[in-house]
Amino acid sequence: MEKKIEHYDVVIIGGGAAGMTAGIYCGRARLKTLVIEKALVGGLATYTNEIENYPGFPEGSTGLGLMELFQKQAKKFGVQFKLTDVRSVKLEGEDKVVETFRNEYHCKVVIIASGGKPRLTGATNEDKYLYDKGISFCATCDAAANTGKTVMVIGSGDAAIEEGMFLTKFADKVIVSVLHDEGIMDCNEIAKAEALQNEKMEFLWNTTVAEFKGDEEHLRAVALKNSKTGAIVDVPVDTCFIFIGYLPNTELFQGMIDMTRGGYVITNERMETRIPGVFCAGDVRDKFLKQVATAVGDGAIAGYAAEKYIAESEMFENQIMGETPRIVYLYNAASTNDRELLGVMEQYEQCHCGLQLIKADVYKSSGIAQRLNVEQTPCVAYIRDNQLVGCITCEDICSSSIDKLVCR
Ligand SMILES: Cc1cc2nc3c(=O)[nH]c(=O)nc-3n(C[C@H](O)[C@H](O)[C@H](O)COP(=O)(O)OP(=O)(O)OC[C@H]3O[C@@H](n4cnc5c(N)ncnc54)[C@H](O)[C@@H]3O)c2cc1C
Repeated sequence: MEKKIEHYDVVIIGGGAAGMTAGIYCGRARLKTLVIEKALVGGLATYTNEIENYPGFPEGSTGLGLMELFQKQAKKFGVQFKLTDVRSVKLEGEDKVVETFRNEYHCKVVIIASGGKPRLTGATNEDKYLYDKGISFCATCDAAANTGKTVMVIGSGDAAIEEGMFLTKFADKVIVSVLHDEGIMDCNEIAKAEALQNEKMEFLWNTTVAEFKGDEEHLRAVALKNSKTGAIVDVPVDTCFIFIGYLPNTELFQGMIDMTRGGYVITNERMETRIPGVFCAGDVRDKFLKQVATAVGDGAIAGYAAEKYIAESEMFENQIMGETPRIVYLYNAASTNDRELLGVMEQYEQCHCGLQLIKADVYKSSGIAQRLNVEQTPCVAYIRDNQLVGCITCEDICSSSIDKLVCR
């Protein structure tokens, strides 16, 4: 099947908090921007019933409600959304390609905001009962269906305990399987104290899942193994909610960009990967705290950096490089010395008809210096026939040294 080709300035892979924030920044910068989302716009945040720690919402917000606002804002700035799965990417070079089943999206910038997926226990029969057959990763989605029932929560981190408490509003009993010794949990102290006092919650300490048991239709029990005694007990449940962490969605990018051993994308503080024009934001990045607030911060930086990258690429192609001879003065506008030399450069241009002077402020556009491999400013680069002929830096900059440069 021949794929339909479309062109964008920026394609964002993943429509969660990070992707949509990047979209808002790109859309607002008037870049033609596409967000591709394979499941639910809003991403993982839509899994949670209540978000209480995202600033600006003192009464809290539902994850879904918050993400709907993000999408509304992105759409306001012209960001387009497509609900489909990204199958492959070509990231090297200026023309990047993002492929879905039917389309090929060509773009200048790719922002990877593909987040993560729930980690599985690896216990026997897990695959058999995933999602609608009794194993869930979303209390918001499946709590109501468990009204009056007995459910199990696997894990003791913030998500496990907070979602477990939410489940007590519906289920009669919430059994929590905790890997650690009695009283030790991975969640914050406030959640821990509240959960331990909650009469509907029961804790089974030092336990891990050995097997999921049931019939063809549905999960009926979880076999828990006591890590101290080795004893295995079948605990009858209607649904089992697994909250034991997340794995990054980075299979598509394996071998293309740098990642940690755990598969998280490595970026610098500008959200740049090692490939020019490829940025990454949100939970899919290797970072200290994975939350909506930090996903938003990453997305904002990635969107801003994308705009800078495109502006610098255009300046580089249209002004810096060219057939006709030109000198490029790379300077830092914040430096007095660099500013004083501007006068010398302008005089030089006036005395040498036919030689064009281009001024590039690296304080604002550091990418231009990077493209020319210039590490120090001030610097004068001589370009001829679309090629960098040579450079002179710092104290060497005067009329006679520039004369020597342009005579090469
Ligand atoms: C149960 C739970 C409770 C939480 N509670 C809170 C809380 O109270 N406060 C808080 O701040 N944070 C909370 N978080 C964390 C928060 O949800 C995440 O940090 C945040 O959603 C990360 O956003 P993201 O955009 O980086 O990634 P995600 O939200 O994971 O979005 C990534 C998106 O990319 C899509 N995608 C992946 N691969 C592809 C592909 N190949 N093609 C197209 N699309 C793709 C995915 O479908 C997904 O929608 C909670 C998380 C969970 C699971």
